[in-house]
Amino acid sequence: MADMKQQLLDWIEEDRTKLLGFFSEFVATPTPNPPGDTREAVKHIRRFLDEHQLAHRVIDPEPMFPNVVGTFDGAGDGKHLVLNGHIDCFSATDEGWSHGGPWSGAIEDGAVWGRGSADMKCGTSTSIFTFMYLNRIKEHLNGKLTLTCVSDEEVFGPWGARYLMNHHPEVHGDCCLNGEPSSPYSIRFGEKGPYWVTFHIKTKGAHGAYTHAGGSASLVAMDFCQDLRGAIDAIQVEPPHNIGTALAKARDTLDRAMGEGAHTIIQKVTCNIGVLEAGDKVNVVPGTARIETDIRLPVGCEKETVTSVIESVLARHPEVTMEEQNYMAPSWCDPYGEMVGILQNNVEALAGFRPTPIVSLGGTDARLWRYRGIGGYVYGPFPHGMGQRDEHVPVDDFFHVIKSHVLSAYDYLKAE
Ligand SMILES: [Zn+2]
Repeated sequence: MADMKQQLLDWIEEDRTKLLGFFSEFVATPTPNPPGDTREAVKHIRRFLDEHQLAHRVIDPEPMFPNVVGTFDGAGDGKHLVLNGHIDCFSATDEGWSHGGPWSGAIEDGAVWGRGSADMKCGTSTSIFTFMYLNRIKEHLNGKLTLTCVSDEEVFGPWGARYLMNHHPEVHGDCCLNGEPSSPYSIRFGEKGPYWVTFHIKTKGAHGAYTHAGGSASLVAMDFCQDLRGAIDAIQVEPPHNIGTALAKARDTLDRAMGEGAHTIIQKVTCNIGVLEAGDKVNVVPGTARIETDIRLPVGCEKETVTSVIESVLARHPEVTMEEQNYMAPSWCDPYGEMVGILQNNVEALAGFRPTPIVSLGGTDARLWRYRGIGGYVYGPFPHGMGQRDEHVPVDDFFHVIKSHVLSAYDYLKAE
């Protein structure tokens, strides 16, 4: 068995130029969402799959957002592993980018540069290569391996992984492995849940000189925001099952992966005031205001807990009404599941350290598997420049992620 793993690593080394070339060209095929058109990038993926005689199909309930799905069986019965990655990416303006702009895919200074490189064309390329290498040795595997390259992820859209999970139960499997940016030091087994709420404020307004008349929507908005933040900050949430133990051990890794201080909010409900709008003229007391909030629920937090706190704040501000925009529950699976141990062992053998299981602040499609009680694990590169300019993935990280996934998928499916 050790020989088989060495064989897989040797193939990856032999194919370095080809794998890097695929990744670079993938980044150079723009897929910003919005609008989220991934058709050209899907052609790029299909060319690679066809070149390696890998059977697959396109599932495109909405033609602009196609999904690529492939599957094969091993020699005997066994578990079903699903590889998942998205094809679309954040949007980008040209401003401030080095290395040829956001869609260059340039391989320079030891990294691949461009929008979508870290989030998550590195991870999606990894899934495709894992599918290719394991297909080559399928007579040594049991069970089944499925590849899902999906669209429509960045806007939590309905046509990608959500569509597949709802209409194609054959992609559920027993475990999902995903290469979203996580940092090589962490394995993500859960994530917080976004709850987006818009508040509308209506007052009578007045001439700007008549402040004695009261009724300023901008002042109500300021008071309301302070009150809301304080009330949300006071919510206490107990993590379920063994999640608390895992998070207590992951304190340093959380900060390393998501920035200093991340551990202080991982188990807190947070509230970002993303949009605050009131008035349109300096000499008018505004009669309307609008506040858009992005509230994030930690693992173990019920939506009702937050809603009842919001309602108690609303009761103190009769000029304010709320409108729910979007909600996705927080998700989690076993922090000590089989895939975690497999990944830890392989990463340790490859790089000399053991990644720590953590919960992530941001969202991924892996939640859709966890919602169904299936393990959904994320292991990917550092999020260098994610959502900002100069997004990139160091070439060494790219190959580290590929090797970690290929060896771990093999360990999960290998015939004993
Ligand atoms: Zn992503």
